[in-house]
Amino acid sequence: MNTALGLYLHIPFCRQRCHFCAFYLELHREATAEAFLRALHTELRLYEAEKIAAGRSLQSVYFGGGTPTVLKTAQLIMILAAVRKSFVLGPDCEITVEAHPGTVTAAGLSALRRADVSRLSFGAESMHDDELARIGRPGAESETIEAVTAARTAGFANINLDLMYGLPGQTVESWKRTLTACCDLSPTHLSCYALTVEDGTRLARDVRQETAQAPDETLQVEMDQIARQALAEAGYARYEISNYAKPGFECRHNLLYWTQGNYLGLGPSAQSFVDGVRFGNDANLKAYESALGEGRFPIQNRSVLTAQEQLRDAVIFGLRLEHGVSTSLLVTHAVNYGYEKVVDRLRASELLVEDHERTRLSAHGRLHADTVAEQLF
Ligand code: SF4
Repeated sequence: MNTALGLYLHIPFCRQRCHFCAFYLELHREATAEAFLRALHTELRLYEAEKIAAGRSLQSVYFGGGTPTVLKTAQLIMILAAVRKSFVLGPDCEITVEAHPGTVTAAGLSALRRADVSRLSFGAESMHDDELARIGRPGAESETIEAVTAARTAGFANINLDLMYGLPGQTVESWKRTLTACCDLSPTHLSCYALTVEDGTRLARDVRQETAQAPDETLQVEMDQIARQALAEAGYARYEISNYAKPGFECRHNLLYWTQGNYLGLGPSAQSFVDGVRFGNDANLKAYESALGEGRFPIQNRSVLTAQEQLRDAVIFGLRLEHGVSTSLLVTHAVNYGYEKVVDRLRASELLVEDHERTRLSAHGRLHADTVAEQLF
């Protein structure tokens, strides 16, 4: 049995919704948060009673969202205390909290560090205030600088910054400056995401109504290559299509997703994969609370993956990694599903590239990772 397990906690609240965001979340209200926290504690106790983690220890705990730091620091610490009651944490457990730079204080960060949170992930997105304004993202460059400085003072050595490229009005020059400004802050990890237009978002509506421009893919490929080069020069190695780290600082929790590790997701919309079974929670706060109020798991879908399906997932997620997957694994998957022609087509269109018996996404393929995955699914 694979004894490593990661725990994801989805905190479904933000102060406002950014124009591009399609995550499940609600606007933060004190009373709504209290009700959610009661439900989350019940969910933790149900998993404890179920003994799903028997014989395992947590190698990572990840507070994601949403914006976990819209909760009070004391509430986050209480969740962590409840996690410790219901699960065994491994000796070197990576504990990450995602944070919006404008929602943290020096005192709050010190308290999180004292509670053994080991990693912070700040959603910086851009180091240009006008670019942030155009994507409806509250905040400013100065907040990111202050937040990272406060985090260091609080004792955090492991800090990630999330960035986006292909933003409305963003240029190669402004992207380079964002990268430089972020490297100057010396985070241990950087995530660079290409802006995509998701159905149901305000950005999708604006693009439809021609009041915003859809991202320019050619420019995004160029920006991706600029990021890779600039970050390599600054000592960050790309290990996944969007993720760069200083040696030894790869995100342990996210690696579980890409390497078929076991992870348990709590909170509305959170997904889990444990011992070959994939299951996901209801993406609705009321339905989530109502199930837990009745003492039931809020699970909406569950599927047991066959060995063939697990191999498929190993290929699809493995292609996201910088070292890709072994070409023989890809060929086995292609034969299993009768996808030989699909793989040939992906190679011919240069979305996949092969090198030393390993296949991975090309620079262009990285922008179409989801389409490639759909074709191989
Ligand atoms: S802060 Fe993050 S989770 Fe919240 S709306 Fe913006 S992108 Fe979405």
